[in-house]
Amino acid sequence: MPQGFSCSCGAVTGHVADSAFAKGTRGLCHCADCRASVKHITGTAPAHVDLFFASTNSFSYDTGFENLAVLHMSPKGVHRVYATCCGSPMHIVAPLRRLSYANIFVDRLNAPDQAGPVQVQVNMAEGPKHTGLGRFLGGAAGRAVSGLLNGTWRDGPFFDPAGALTMPLHLISLEDKAKAYS
Ligand SMILES: [Zn+2]
Ligand SMILES: [Zn+2]
Repeated sequence: MPQGFSCSCGAVTGHVADSAFAKGTRGLCHCADCRASVKHITGTAPAHVDLFFASTNSFSYDTGFENLAVLHMSPKGVHRVYATCCGSPMHIVAPLRRLSYANIFVDRLNAPDQAGPVQVQVNMAEGPKHTGLGRFLGGAAGRAVSGLLNGTWRDGPFFDPAGALTMPLHLISLEDKAKAYS
C-alpha cells in the first residue's frame, strides 16, 4: 500500500511509493538553516527536522499541488517545499534534479512509524557532529547513480521536463532571515 501524506490542514495530499520504504533513510538534521526555515514557515523553530529520504520519483501529489511553494534561505540553497495553505514544511529537495533525491518531513506522513528508526543525524551542536553519515551518503550516491542510469531523475513532482521547478519560488528577505535565525 502506498503511504499517504498531507499538509496539516489536509488541502494538500499525496503518497509515497511502496518501494521507497525498502530503500529510504530516516535522518535528523540539526542545522541552523533547517531550523530557521521551519521557524519562517511555521513561526516556531524545532530542535531538529525529522526527514525521510527517497528518490524524487517516490513522491506523488493527489490534491492541492497549487498550494505548494519553494523557499530558499539563500540564492543557491536547497529547495524547501512547503504548503502555503497552512504553513506546513513538506520536503527538502536536492538543488540539482540529477541528484534525484528528496525527502519528506516525517510528521507529514499519515503513519510516521513507517519511516522506520532514525539512522542518521547531522549537524548536531554537541557531541559527535554527525552519526551514520557514511551510510546516508552511500545511499544518496547510490540513488543518484541509479537515477542517472535508468532515467528516473526526470521523474517526480518537483521539476518539469526542462528542469524548471514546478512550484513558485520565494527567496527569504533579509529582514525575515534575521528573524528566522534569531
Ligand atoms: Zn494545508
Ligand atoms: Zn539542515
